[in-house]
Amino acid sequence: MRKITLSFVVFVASLLLIACNNKKQEEKTESETNKNFTYEVDEFADIQILRYKVPGFESLTLQQKTQLYYLSMAAIEGRDILFDQNNKYNLAIRRTLEAIYLNYKGDKASNDYKEFEIYLKRVWFSNGIHHHYGEEKFLPGFSKNFFVEQVKNLPATEVPTKENQSVDEFITMISPVIFDPAIMSKKVNKSAKDKILASANNYYGDGVTQNEVIDFYNKMKNPNEQHPIPYGLNSRLVKENGKLVEKVWFENGLYSDAIKRIIFWLEKALSVTDVRDKKQQEVISKLIFFYKSGDLKNYDEYAIAWVNDNALTDFVNGFTEVYGDALGIKASWESIVNFKNLEATKRTEIISANAQWFENNSPIDKRFKKEEVKGVSAKVITVVQLGGDCYPATPIGINLPNADWIRKDYGSKSVTIENIMEAYDQAGLHTGFNDEFVWSEKEIGYLKDYGFITDVLHTDLHECLGHGSGKLLPGTDPNALGETSSEIEETRADLFGLYYLADPKLVELGVIPNAEAYKAEYYKFMMNGLMTQLVRIEPGKDIEEAHMVNRQLIAKWVLEKGKADNVVEFKIRDGKTFVVINDYEKLRSLFGQLLAEIQRIKSEGDFKAAKSLVENYGVKVDQKLHKEVLERYKNLNMKPYKGFVNPTFDITEDKDGKITDVKINYTEGYIDQMLRYSREFSTLPTYNE
Ligand code: ZN
Repeated sequence: MRKITLSFVVFVASLLLIACNNKKQEEKTESETNKNFTYEVDEFADIQILRYKVPGFESLTLQQKTQLYYLSMAAIEGRDILFDQNNKYNLAIRRTLEAIYLNYKGDKASNDYKEFEIYLKRVWFSNGIHHHYGEEKFLPGFSKNFFVEQVKNLPATEVPTKENQSVDEFITMISPVIFDPAIMSKKVNKSAKDKILASANNYYGDGVTQNEVIDFYNKMKNPNEQHPIPYGLNSRLVKENGKLVEKVWFENGLYSDAIKRIIFWLEKALSVTDVRDKKQQEVISKLIFFYKSGDLKNYDEYAIAWVNDNALTDFVNGFTEVYGDALGIKASWESIVNFKNLEATKRTEIISANAQWFENNSPIDKRFKKEEVKGVSAKVITVVQLGGDCYPATPIGINLPNADWIRKDYGSKSVTIENIMEAYDQAGLHTGFNDEFVWSEKEIGYLKDYGFITDVLHTDLHECLGHGSGKLLPGTDPNALGETSSEIEETRADLFGLYYLADPKLVELGVIPNAEAYKAEYYKFMMNGLMTQLVRIEPGKDIEEAHMVNRQLIAKWVLEKGKADNVVEFKIRDGKTFVVINDYEKLRSLFGQLLAEIQRIKSEGDFKAAKSLVENYGVKVDQKLHKEVLERYKNLNMKPYKGFVNPTFDITEDKDGKITDVKINYTEGYIDQMLRYSREFSTLPTYNE
């Protein structure tokens, strides 16, 4: 997975809260407009819409701000492309629904209208009629009669009919697509016999079969090619007169009108790019060149330039991820505009620079330590704008490019999006989750003050150091742990992070506020591992996913081993179960003991011990506790999916039209934003054939 997603609210809840260290400073510089900032924007169906902040934007240079603004405009221009990629009727449906919404004169309190509004919000959110996560078509809650009546009431010019099509013919064409559950029921169908025929996306023309696609692209491939071109990435494959042809997405091909607008803004961005920054100029130029040529060789050249560019401002813009195609050939259009979070990146760099100290002082047996260890430092970014397949639902991290040979020869960028994670955390404050599951005000206080910083720090330690620490004994088979290997590996990395979170060294390095902060993550980890992560498990099922197994393994093991000293316990209050930590220092030493044992298992390849730990601690679910947790969680009424509105930009220009100031504005709502995008950034024809 190249895209790191945070789809379930539980992940969100498990991140919890935030350290508000920067908050005061931020608020001072915020303009009056943004005084009433709230993270929560809207809620409907299974979705919550949030807003994210862009801390640090004010401190950028005017040139950087202007460039990010232009790149942000380029990020919105691809929205129609994604709608059309997801289904060939999506633009027709969106435009019809928007016309109804804007012309509606009936009773807004009626059930049909309320359901209509929910449906429209869902279509916007999913960039089409299929669920953004589950891929299945969602059905409207309003009646077909209501719909037909509304379409007929529209001014004829506002019904997006095909050429020479009457409104009645349009209704006959579009109604089953909206209302019939059997028609175009899944956007991507990976379990069907013919995955292409069964998928409702628009990557392949009518009647194109899976075998035809595979044959078509196999013929293009040269198995001995060292630098294989990602054939098919930027085109629709259709049948014309019985022959397969690619309709390429480029300036003079399919999606031309949108791509021209993207190029327009990219050229503006290029014009304000620092002239000394040859690398970044190259990135933008090469991307423009690719959009103009449509040649995937140019795409690879752009990707190489992109990976080599380490400027403060950065962006993704283009046909990138292939999850939307059942065969993983065609890429959906997406964009993320961002700049480096220097403060947070410093944190991962400090940690990585001290990798050897951490290795030397770890509680594992000397025989298993690496003589020479190198930390990995990941970049932390602040997002300014989300577009296409990253909007409104967005990843919390990205790892690109996707081409294996480019990754091998030139490396990749691994990126954490901290302001998005922060927004999830902040919104988590108001869900009632902590009040329901956290034992007392003391723990809630830890989480409020240090929950976010220790959570990201734990992830940093896990990723930058944990996985890379330790070594196998000579002669140990790297595959000795068999089916338990990923569980054991994740356990090891997590324990490494947990053990060091409480180390005075972190205070000394200045990456954690004080010697008590770690308690937030310890409490969160134990509560999650022993109880709250169970909300993601169906009743009666065991835990299977490796990270979840590892978390329960650790939590249950230390619970049991610390029993004699009452280190951690379950307490019941008003019939509800809570996790209580009585001795944080002893808890740390238990994490250290388990880390030593897990490292021994890994270094020696002790499969028997690995299997018994996983089976005895990691997999089995306490049925009674599970039932209780599920009931308590259900009462909280939390939305399982989240997405974001983008901030807008307040632009000041001089009399020659030169930008003299760019300010971020956080006031636009969900409906307003969607309608504005459809009004100002919608250039594609309704039917792109
Ligand atoms: Zn990991």
